[in-house]
Amino acid sequence: MNEQLERLNRLPLRDDLRGQTPYGAPQLEVPVLLNVNENTHGLPQEVADAIAESVRQAVAGLNRYPDREFTELRERLASYLGHGLSVENIWAGNGSNEVLQHILQAFGGPGRTAMSFPPTYSMYPLLANGTGTEYIAGHRAADFTLSASSAADQVREAKPNIVLLCTPNNPTGTALGLDVVEAVYEAGSASNAVVIVDEAYAEFSHAGTPSALSLLPGRERLIVSRTMSKAFALAGARLGYMAAAPEVTDALRLVRLPYHLSAVTQATANAALAHAPALLANVEDIKAQRDRIVSELTELGLQPAESDANFVLFGGLENPRKTWQGLLDAGVLIRDVGIPGHLRVTAGTEAETTAFLTRLRELLSA
Ligand SMILES: *Cc1c(COP(=O)(O)O)cnc(C)c1O
Repeated sequence: MNEQLERLNRLPLRDDLRGQTPYGAPQLEVPVLLNVNENTHGLPQEVADAIAESVRQAVAGLNRYPDREFTELRERLASYLGHGLSVENIWAGNGSNEVLQHILQAFGGPGRTAMSFPPTYSMYPLLANGTGTEYIAGHRAADFTLSASSAADQVREAKPNIVLLCTPNNPTGTALGLDVVEAVYEAGSASNAVVIVDEAYAEFSHAGTPSALSLLPGRERLIVSRTMSKAFALAGARLGYMAAAPEVTDALRLVRLPYHLSAVTQATANAALAHAPALLANVEDIKAQRDRIVSELTELGLQPAESDANFVLFGGLENPRKTWQGLLDAGVLIRDVGIPGHLRVTAGTEAETTAFLTRLRELLSA
């Protein structure tokens, strides 16, 4: 055991945290970063200027606590989402990870369970653990799909307090049909389960893919979470949000820290939302690169999964670790998500995507 771990183990750490590993996607300085599904296009100058001006104005009031209810921000988020939502349906946090943590704090905790369907977002078990919620791993078909009947059967069997559905799913990229969400919600009624639909990548879905936002009316246990970290190119600002029945936001107020969204964060997100169309202008380009990755990887004899997100999971690799290292040696960082034979790559700019595909082609023919 290394010395750092030994010192950690001498502390009175909670037993359920002993031996756990923190979230740790590598943060390396290489020219082409395609490993954490950021929007690599960056912010248009006009939006960067508007955010800087909004923050400049907020600085004058930094001696005071910010608006605890972040009302302007919730209004803007409601109007961005549409679907007849209004301010009392919206909640936000420092990244959607914090929103998910609030939900687990309010509806999970010791003696309760949260279920999701791996391979899925690696933060779900970590968030469960951090809040003392027991994590239940469901399963998918071999091709990573999840049918309505399978998901509902598993929920009926496990009777979880919380279900997390990720669509489009990270790391596979596949979107779930609304029939899956409806079936899981129905199946969850026996255990009064809160059903979270994590739509972090919704803006990248193929045209016509419906959002679970349309299912909210009449379903008070349903929560749809979104983020400004991906399509909005604002991963560094830390702003995630959710839409649900007003009583859900009331529940989350019980566990949030007072003034959790700083005045600087609120000013940043408000200005960004005022310029949403400009910020989202690169989404079509990213979708085109995503589709290009799927078709070129297929030509290379690999097996990319269909994707509705800004990344592609691909299989058919004999030695993913070696391929990952070969790409990194050429300055291209992608993600090993721990699925045998597979790697995941973010769709970047056209030039970044070309750098990735060119290097990969060289590695495979070597
Ligand atoms: C990236 C991602 C998020 C977003 O996390 P933030 O905390 O908002 O940056 C949420 N869910 C999934 C599945 C993701 O991949």
